Amino acid sequence: MNKWHMIIDVEKCEDCNNCFLSCKDEHVENDWQGYSLSQPRHGHRWMNIVRKERGQFPLIDVAYRPTPCMHCDSAPCIRAAKEGAIYKRPDGIVIIDPEKAKGRQDLVKTCPYGAIWWNEERQVPQKCTFCAHLLDEGWKAPRCVQACPTGALRAVSCDGEEMKGMIEQENLKILHPEFRTVPRVHYKNLDRYLRCFVAGTVAVERERIVDCVRGAGVRLGNSSGTSCETTTDSFGDFKLDGLEEDSGKYSLEVAHPALGRKMLEVEVRKSVNVGTILFSVL
Ligand code: SF4
Ligand code: SF4
Repeated sequence: MNKWHMIIDVEKCEDCNNCFLSCKDEHVENDWQGYSLSQPRHGHRWMNIVRKERGQFPLIDVAYRPTPCMHCDSAPCIRAAKEGAIYKRPDGIVIIDPEKAKGRQDLVKTCPYGAIWWNEERQVPQKCTFCAHLLDEGWKAPRCVQACPTGALRAVSCDGEEMKGMIEQENLKILHPEFRTVPRVHYKNLDRYLRCFVAGTVAVERERIVDCVRGAGVRLGNSSGTSCETTTDSFGDFKLDGLEEDSGKYSLEVAHPALGRKMLEVEVRKSVNVGTILFSVL
């Protein structure tokens, strides 16, 4: 049987918040009988865009990770809820029963992803429903997926084999595999969020004029054999991405046929801008 999955591309998310707003539009002041009570206007983020700033000015970027309920196949929230207060549908979607879960504030803490929110007014725990009320009416995708202008969100209904193929082909990853919850939300380009970079600028000083150096070779390596390389762009900038955070000391080598070679040591904890590496021509 086909089951629902959501695929989220971190590289494509621009933090426009259309997904968040369309979720509000669908669920605020709307009770969907059997699926969910209305979502409060403020406080809940059923589609929560988590942000991570990387690097230091001026070589800086921000990675955005849209995060709904993971609709886990081995969901701790379901195990804790008992008597069907939270249940999994045959199509993979996890639903909090709005009647049976009444008064169960304790369920908020059962989700290791922080995807369950407490509705004080209605006295019920709530979360993303994958817009099951719409899918059951024949819709092909939830509201947030439809609203995303960059195609960062995709809803896929397929069998396990097909999904396995997609995971391999697109190098999809799950969030916090150590939780062992078997999520149905998969991420593309998750390294953009999880990993870090070393960046900098290469310049040359000639007769007191400083100019950027295009096409310098930049190589980063450490004693455990990790290495990567790139060349500087027209502004003399370089960025070596996809490094593990807290991975320790690296040697950075910058080489240019006309200018020579410079070496420096870089300690990688988070993303780092090493600043300007300056060559001089007398
Ligand atoms: S992400 Fe949290 S709320 Fe959603 S199914 Fe998994 S454990 Fe339950
Ligand atoms: S699938 Fe529906 S309920 Fe879930 S975040 Fe998207 S719009 Fe909100």
